[in-house]
Amino acid sequence: MSAYLLERAWVDGRVRDRVLVEIEGGRFTRVTPDFSPVEPVSPMVKPPSPMVKPPSPVVEPPSPVVEPVETLRGLTLPGFANTHSHAFHRALRGRTQTDRGTFWTWREQMYAVAARLTPDSYHELARATYSEMVAAGFTAVGEFHYLHHAPDGTPYADPNAFGQALIAAAADAGIRITLLDTLYLSSGFGAAPEGVQRRYADRSAEAWRERVDALTGGDHARVGVAAHSVRAVPAESLKVLAPYVDQGAPVHVHLSEQVQENQDCLASHGVTPTRLLADHGILGPMTTAVHATHLTDEDIALLGGAGSYASFCPTTERDLGDGIGPSRRLRAAGAAITLGSDSQAVIDPFEEMRALELDERLASQQRGRWSADELLAAATSMGHASLGWADAGEIAVGHRADLVTLDLETPRTAGAGRDEHTAVFAAAAADVRRVMVDGVIRFDGDSGAVGARLAHAVEALWR
Ligand SMILES: [Zn+2]
Repeated sequence: MSAYLLERAWVDGRVRDRVLVEIEGGRFTRVTPDFSPVEPVSPMVKPPSPMVKPPSPVVEPPSPVVEPVETLRGLTLPGFANTHSHAFHRALRGRTQTDRGTFWTWREQMYAVAARLTPDSYHELARATYSEMVAAGFTAVGEFHYLHHAPDGTPYADPNAFGQALIAAAADAGIRITLLDTLYLSSGFGAAPEGVQRRYADRSAEAWRERVDALTGGDHARVGVAAHSVRAVPAESLKVLAPYVDQGAPVHVHLSEQVQENQDCLASHGVTPTRLLADHGILGPMTTAVHATHLTDEDIALLGGAGSYASFCPTTERDLGDGIGPSRRLRAAGAAITLGSDSQAVIDPFEEMRALELDERLASQQRGRWSADELLAAATSMGHASLGWADAGEIAVGHRADLVTLDLETPRTAGAGRDEHTAVFAAAAADVRRVMVDGVIRFDGDSGAVGARLAHAVEALWR
C-alpha cells in the first residue's frame, strides 16, 4: 500500500484541501479530504505534520507495513482521457503549414508519413507520442487505428502487427490504451482505395472482422472498433459493426467533420451521415461520434436520443479549419462530450477543455456555456467511460489510481486562483509535474527525456 497527501485536489466535483489517498493494487482504497493530523483516519499511518514534508510514517505492529506518505504540492486532478488519437500524426506537427497550409498540404504530408511507417518505426513513434500524452496528464488514449498493412496492401504475417505495436507502445509509455481498430474499405463513397490507402483497407468487412477478433487486450489495453467514416465504409458494410454496438464495446466513427462529407452522403444515400449510422444500428450508448461538427437538428436529436458520445477535438478542428460543432446542444439533447487530440497538432488536455468553451463563446456570442467542472468531467470520467474504462477518471475509492499534479506557481498558474478554474482557464500541459497511472508514477517532470524521444522517433521518419 502507498499513501499520498494531496495539497489540493478535485474530488467529487470540487477542489478540496489536504486529500489523503491510499492506494493498493493500483486502485484508491481510501480518499479522505480535509485530512486532519489530529484525527488519523487510518490506524496504520501516523499523519504528517501540515507544515513540513511529512516524516516517514510510524508503523504500529502488527499492522501491515505502509510506505512513506508523500505530499504532492499543487492541484491534483484525476487522469485525463484522450478519446481520439492518431498517434502517427505527431510526425506532422509544424510541417503542414507550407503554401499557407491547405487541407491538401496536410493530407499529402500525412500520407507521406503513413507510406513510410513499419511496425517497428511506428512502435518508436507511438511510444514517444504516448509519452508526450502522459507528460500532459493523459492516462488513457483511444487510438483510432487505421494503418494496418504492408505498403502494397498485403497483410503482414501477423495481420495485427501495427495494432500490437501500438498496444506495446502504450505499455512502454505507461498509458492505458483502447485500440479502436478501424474499418476502411473505400477512398470515398465506393471508390477503390488507392496509393497509401491500400495500407488502410481490408479485403472486405468480413476480413476486417476476423482480423479484429484476433486482437486481445490486457490490463492496460482494451480492444474497440471504428468505422473510418461514411466516406470510407459503404453503407451495406456498416452492419458489420452493429454486433459490437449491441455488445457494448466502444465503437467510434468520424462524423460530419466537413460539409463536403454531408453533401456527398446526401448525394449517395439521400440521408445525412448521422441518419445513415442510425439506420444501420451504429448509434448506441458506447458509440462515439468523432468531431460531430456539421449536424442538423435531427442529427443532434439522434445522437442525444441514443445517449452516444461526441468526441470533440478543438485544437485539430481549428488547425484543419473544420468549423465549430454544437457541443452544448448535443449535451442538452442527451449526448456526452469527450475530448481528443486527434492530429496531435497540440497534445494538451487543458487547451482542449478551454477550447470547447471558448469556441462556444465565439459561435454563440455568450460566455459561460460550459462550466469548469463540466469540462473537467468531460475530459476525465466521461472520456474514460467512453473508452471502456468506467473505473477510471475520478479520485474515488475503487477507481484506478491516476493522479495528475499541476504546479500552481508557474508563469501561467501563479496567482490564478488555485482551483478548477486555474486548471481549465490558466494551466497548460507544461505545468504538469507528476503523473501517476494505475498507481505507478509515469512522469516525474522530466520533459527533456520526452522531447529527446520524440526528436529521435520523428526525425528518423523524415530522413
Ligand atoms: Zn481523426
